[in-house]
Amino acid sequence: MANENSISTLNAQPLKKIVIVGGGAAGWLTAGIIAAEHLVDKHNGIELVVIESPDVATIGVGEGTWPSMRNTLKKMGVSETDFIRECDASFKQGSKFIGWSRPGEEFYYHPFTLPEGNNDINLAAHWLPFRETISFADAVCAQSHLSDRYLAPKQLTTPEFAGNVNYGYHLNAGKFSQFLQKHCIDKLGVTHLIDHVTGVNSGEKGDISALITKINGEINGDLFIDCTGFASRLIGEHYQIPLVEQSHILFNDSALAVQIPYSNPDEPIASCTLSTAQDSGWIWDIGLPTRRGVGHVFSSAHTQDDEVEKNLRVYLEASIGKAAAANITPRKLSFTPGYRAKFWHKNCVAVGIAAGFIEPLEATALVLIELSAQTISEQLPANRAVMDITAKRFNNKFAGNWQRIIEFLKLHYVLSERRDTEYWRDHCNPTTMPDGLREQLELWRYQVPWKHDIRGDEMFPWASYQYVLYGMGFNTLPRALAKRAAQAETNAANRLFNETVKKTSVAVANLPTNRYLLSKLGEFSFQKI
Ligand SMILES: Cc1cc2nc3c(=O)[nH]c(=O)nc-3n(C[C@H](O)[C@H](O)[C@H](O)COP(=O)(O)OP(=O)(O)OC[C@H]3O[C@@H](n4cnc5c(N)ncnc54)[C@H](O)[C@@H]3O)c2cc1C
Repeated sequence: MANENSISTLNAQPLKKIVIVGGGAAGWLTAGIIAAEHLVDKHNGIELVVIESPDVATIGVGEGTWPSMRNTLKKMGVSETDFIRECDASFKQGSKFIGWSRPGEEFYYHPFTLPEGNNDINLAAHWLPFRETISFADAVCAQSHLSDRYLAPKQLTTPEFAGNVNYGYHLNAGKFSQFLQKHCIDKLGVTHLIDHVTGVNSGEKGDISALITKINGEINGDLFIDCTGFASRLIGEHYQIPLVEQSHILFNDSALAVQIPYSNPDEPIASCTLSTAQDSGWIWDIGLPTRRGVGHVFSSAHTQDDEVEKNLRVYLEASIGKAAAANITPRKLSFTPGYRAKFWHKNCVAVGIAAGFIEPLEATALVLIELSAQTISEQLPANRAVMDITAKRFNNKFAGNWQRIIEFLKLHYVLSERRDTEYWRDHCNPTTMPDGLREQLELWRYQVPWKHDIRGDEMFPWASYQYVLYGMGFNTLPRALAKRAAQAETNAANRLFNETVKKTSVAVANLPTNRYLLSKLGEFSFQKI
């Protein structure tokens, strides 16, 4: 009895010390989000330590974010101007998919801005009769027109983190981690230890009581956050929580990445991530102010490294010439696509690549880090006694998020008309399609995706499904509306289509190019909010 009491007393102790292992984007974003919300610098009851190995480099790729990053940085008290300057960042307004429906130059946009009218009217249904004359993205928002012209999403006079259209960022991943690290240490009261975790001390009921490090000895804590990337030192190696592999759905497991300088300093900076389909994968092309980050993601089961390198050179020849393309030395990255069977186990939770990784299509990794850290921060268990309940909910939520992401990424492949290689034939084989996606596609043959299709754990808004479906040439044959309702809706839709045309011409006339705005930020700042 006395023993039980002492356990419950121990369990009811307030959670005081959080130890994050890993100093990549996952470690520092998680530290920043928790420290800002829990006023760690004011010694408000929570101590936060980040341990970063001097022996294991950060992954150093991962250059596209979602618009959510604006809110994350704002909450952490970061200045947008400083962030753009120090992380070599540019503006990302979505993705441009080239050659995904069939090989060639044909493209479509998946912009970040939602269609005009948003939740009030489903514009896609009214666009369908005009599908042969205007693309869906062009009809419903200004952003594809801005991206065609390399325009920025805002002006120099627009306040920090605000935009004329929705936007995220392209950034230098290495500089981003360093920027976050400095901010967390200098402004948010986070303690930083450069040390390698070599082992784990287990406490009561299998909890981690302390980490064993090379230099600082034992580091104890109440909650341990595993941000160790592919090492997955705590959740994978220590707790042996298996990876739920997804290579039967999303085949890509490798990438060759390079950094390409601009041929001249005035070269336009793309407003979108360019994603160009290849025979056995796709190439990303991300424009930063000083260079482009380019990489070929591929399935090692469908092709060889030398074939991929050859494709990458051919792709680059168009922009940098044959001689420069012949000289590139790509860096190879390999991964097993999947996510952990559990993210939170005992007093340990994994965030970032330690929790899982699937290919970088639609840049879902950083946003999952933001969402995981935000959830941990908002639902930080008061003590160990209630932690298992929080863990169970966290695990259910994020397993659902991963599954929805996987379905959305697979959507890009299954709609393709490409059957020219084994890779595309395998992707379009219905047996490789998750059931949830198959059901959605059945429905969408007769009804246009909208808010009613969005399941609780969805990461992408319904508009994203529309942009990809109709960008890829999918057809929906909706049931006709009763005549009176149809006329009222058609009138409202026409007003919104006209509104888009007006907004587009105002935006095109007034927004600067990315290159111009970013160069001005060397000298001027966005107005602080
Ligand atoms: C090809 C590719 C392209 C990508 N593109 C995108 C993209 O466009 N957008 C996007 O959102 N994401 C992208 N990602 C994912 C993105 O790079 C990662 O999600 C992000 O960088 C976070 O990585 P991380 O912090 O989890 O891991 P890492 O950056 O690998 O950091 C791991 C940290 O753990 C530390 N560590 C490891 N072992 C120990 C130990 N024993 N003791 C102490 N410390 C330890 C290391 O020192 C390091 O600091 C991409 C990934 C790949 C592979």
